[in-house]
Amino acid sequence: MQIRSCGLFLILGLVHSLTQAPVAQAAEWDIESANFQIRTFRGGPSASQLLKQCEALRSDLQQVWLTAEDRGDWSPRCQVYVHATKASYQTAVGRGAAQTSGSSLIQAVRGEIISRRIDLLYDAQKGTSALPHELTHVVLADRFENGRPPRWLDEGVATMADSPEKRMLHHRDCHQALQSGDALRVVQLLRLEQFTSAKQVPAFYGQSLSLVHFLAEQDEPTRLIDFAEAASKRGYDRALREIYQIEGIEELERRWRKYAWEVGPKAPQSLVSFIAP
Ligand SMILES: [Zn+2]
Repeated sequence: MQIRSCGLFLILGLVHSLTQAPVAQAAEWDIESANFQIRTFRGGPSASQLLKQCEALRSDLQQVWLTAEDRGDWSPRCQVYVHATKASYQTAVGRGAAQTSGSSLIQAVRGEIISRRIDLLYDAQKGTSALPHELTHVVLADRFENGRPPRWLDEGVATMADSPEKRMLHHRDCHQALQSGDALRVVQLLRLEQFTSAKQVPAFYGQSLSLVHFLAEQDEPTRLIDFAEAASKRGYDRALREIYQIEGIEELERRWRKYAWEVGPKAPQSLVSFIAP
């Protein structure tokens, strides 16, 4: 199974099983560490600095979202490719991701992760700004069967690592969806795997971020991952009662909507503010 995550993966149907990630030879890496193998380009960002950033980010993200027993070294290591051009980036990630600047790919066989990969399109101004978001996807994958968290959780948590500007836009989208009546019902949001209309896209990302904020504020952030895991085994209603003492999806809907209206279009401080204050 292969799971690719990036900015617009759902509407573009990038959960695919056909594209094979290139097989990397050890000799081609610019630098390696316990958890990463980095390949950048001539004149691009420093491989050693990027490696330090990757290791530090991984450790910080694991501290927030995973419990101690899930924080072991990665085997296989995560391969990080930095691309100089859009053409090179698209060749690696597929045409469907043309509008994105970062992509992550997890391959799993019989519940075991056999490959971790991140592709980043370098930008002279923004550098490799998509790294925290994509690395969050890779960190979260460790806790889920076949490396696949539910979409709302995967994107909601990853979006927390986006820049403050990007997060502000997502919160604005959530608020606008509530105002216009285009907001997804929570029951829809929790189960959405493919978009059926374009207007669902901003609502989905904005609401996922807002719902992750709401739930993560109810208890320790790591409980959010326990919640998603419990929901995959026993359903959302039971998981809500077990983890958050919320009486099912309907009550979650009421409480989350109240919270989202009170928060308004402004972005609350991210739980991963060490990345994006
Ligand atoms: Zn993403």
